[in-house]
Amino acid sequence: RAKESLSENICYYEPGMDERARHRRQLANDLRHALARDELRILYQPQRSLKTNKVSGYEALLRWHHPRFGLISPAEFIPIAEQTGEIMRIGEWVLRAACAEAVRWKWDGKIAVNLSPVQLLKPDLPERVTNILLETGLSPRRLELEITETAIIADKARALHSLRRIKASGVSVAMDDFGTGYSSLDTLHSFPFDKIKIDKSFLLRAEQSEQAGTIVRAVLALGKSLGIPVLAEGVETESQLALLVREGCDEAQGYYFGKPGEAPSMIAYRASFQ
Ligand code: C2E
Ligand code: MG
Ligand code: MG
Ligand code: MG
Repeated sequence: RAKESLSENICYYEPGMDERARHRRQLANDLRHALARDELRILYQPQRSLKTNKVSGYEALLRWHHPRFGLISPAEFIPIAEQTGEIMRIGEWVLRAACAEAVRWKWDGKIAVNLSPVQLLKPDLPERVTNILLETGLSPRRLELEITETAIIADKARALHSLRRIKASGVSVAMDDFGTGYSSLDTLHSFPFDKIKIDKSFLLRAEQSEQAGTIVRAVLALGKSLGIPVLAEGVETESQLALLVREGCDEAQGYYFGKPGEAPSMIAYRASFQ
């Protein structure tokens, strides 16, 4: 009892907590109308093959243009959407819109879509994905779902069961933010991922820190020995790229190649008028 009221007091009197909680509640509430009010947008960031030097696909990255607060990062609103359950509608919308976008491309590159653990743990996810592919007409081979380890840790048996069914339908699965979760090696061992994405924090620190560079090299060696292609996130400089090429990294993504931007089909459309 005493402990309980003590912790309540601490929470209550912490400066700014009230304000932050209110802001969060406000966002949670506004998020329920964001889709209907057309406030969500998807940006697309190129993923480049370091073997062929060609763009191999694009990752869909969500943005929320709040009418009062302006642009809100997914790092801020996705966790809120996960808490309220709104992520189900939003996630489904992203998947459908991104697949529809990829159908408009004049080439057969991949579209990578981030999946929330909340989505992955719903038993009907494989059917939802299949339905969206049928609806949009996108070939399953062109869709890649990016998942983080959080989902797998939450309920390993269920997550792996869903992932196996998704993979059986021809859709590929990438492990996102590799190196930041727990028991990464165990997860890699349990499921045949099609790609490992090294978290951008390692590459961003590789220039200042010997250790971060060592981790990048270790993940590349791991991918090679498991036969899983590795993509490095967060490539910003020529010397980071040189490190990746030297170490035999398969793919890369980052500001060096292009920031998340307009839909590729829109760019092609405009280019055709130039
Ligand atoms: P993520 O999936 O790991 O996406 C990569 C993030 O790194 C993106 O941040 C991207 O803009 C950023 N990035 C790319 N290249 C560079 C670089 O060279 N330097 C730096 N510093 N950053 C770079 P963003 O767009 O803010 O998204 C943050 C996270 O939000 C994503 O991380 C993903 O976990 C989540 N997210 C975004 N869209 C969705 C979505 O549609 N559904 C779900 N569930 N999560 C999403
Ligand atoms: Mg991702
Ligand atoms: Mg990532
Ligand atoms: Mg991330």
